[in-house]
Amino acid sequence: MSAIQGQDPQIFDFIQRERHRQAEGIELIPSENYTSAAVMEAMGSVLTNKYSEGYPGKRYYGGQENIDLIENLAIERAKELFGAEHVNVQPYSGSPANTAIYFAMLEFGDTVLGLKLDHGGHITHGLPISFSGKAYNFIPYLVDKETGRIDMEEVRKLAHEHKPKMIVAGYSAYPRDIEWKKFKEIADEVGALTFADISHTAGLIAGGVLESPVPYFDVVMTTTHKTLRGPRGAMIMCKEKYAKAINRAIFPGLQGGPHDHVNAGKAIAFAEALKPDFKDYSQQTVKNAKHLAKHLSDRGFDLVSGGTDTHLILVDLTNKGITGKMAQEKLDEVGITLNKNTVPYDQRKPMDPSGIRLGTPAVTTRGMKEAEMEIIAEWLDRVVSNLEDEALLAAVKKEVEELCMGFPVPGLEELSRKTVTA
Ligand SMILES: *Cc1c(COP(=O)(O)O)cnc(C)c1O
Repeated sequence: MSAIQGQDPQIFDFIQRERHRQAEGIELIPSENYTSAAVMEAMGSVLTNKYSEGYPGKRYYGGQENIDLIENLAIERAKELFGAEHVNVQPYSGSPANTAIYFAMLEFGDTVLGLKLDHGGHITHGLPISFSGKAYNFIPYLVDKETGRIDMEEVRKLAHEHKPKMIVAGYSAYPRDIEWKKFKEIADEVGALTFADISHTAGLIAGGVLESPVPYFDVVMTTTHKTLRGPRGAMIMCKEKYAKAINRAIFPGLQGGPHDHVNAGKAIAFAEALKPDFKDYSQQTVKNAKHLAKHLSDRGFDLVSGGTDTHLILVDLTNKGITGKMAQEKLDEVGITLNKNTVPYDQRKPMDPSGIRLGTPAVTTRGMKEAEMEIIAEWLDRVVSNLEDEALLAAVKKEVEELCMGFPVPGLEELSRKTVTA
């Protein structure tokens, strides 16, 4: 980064600090991951200079001979990875992609079924103050109060009562596997379209650990930067009969020029995900999450739904006598990053909710396994049980840094001891 260093020392300094934060801390935010150096090179390449409104072979600007090759390769690899009939790799990110899907497949005011935000849904699944909630008539479904799981009979009841035009499944804070086939059955009973938002679990689906909705659902969206470990962005997969509507909704419906530098990064990430070691990665991510969940549970943490089938764990801290916000802040102090989160039926407000959400995609990318998950569970317990003990917090912080030195972050290898002494 010598160019930034010479030209803009302030930004250089902030990026340097962030590099150290990432290398020296434990990242447990379940939507985050470390993308490869190759993906980052693509995003920092001259492709950022190009404008290419339109689609391969049908552009509104000249000079597309290389861009078309890149976008077509991204599409081919995505199709191979997920077995999709049609793929659009142009969405800037998950939220615009979801907006485009609604724009393509619904009329304003149409009724849609989506999981309520504080039960694990995403803001774009009908939060009343979001565009989705204002433009469409979202009917929220909930998780069961006892089991913490989606009650499919309740979904069926709501579907028959409200006759939605679309049913949305796939979430941001739901630790359990999703019954895609049952959703499709229910949708068929009432003539609804099916939309799966696999932003969180796409990498686990690509790696074969979780079942894919692609064979059953009309349209599937995923971000490319979470478990899929690619650049920030998204893609939409759909049945061939919706291809034209989806493409038009993205461009010119909602977006202008695609981000070609990011799309090259997507192509690289899809090739990485097609390799056999990505299967190992996704399996280990879930193994780690299950192991971490068990050890948290053994230490008296109250897990929503009792555990996890995925990369993600949701903890209700009520029995520990602290809030999600307090936990997040204290853990930040020791270099452990996770996020405060509402739990289903939360009595507290989103800015200071009862729970925390954590996950294993990032630590697994660093090569951490079950043994490290036990250490992390112990740290969480020690911090949460001793919030005011500054000496203890300082000691944990040192241990965190020490462990991190042995597990290099891709692209930041020179900041870890393993490679320094190697
Ligand atoms: C992360 C996420 C999104 C949105 O992604 P952005 O890229 O942040 O806009 C959409 N849906 C779900 C379920 C998500 O978890």
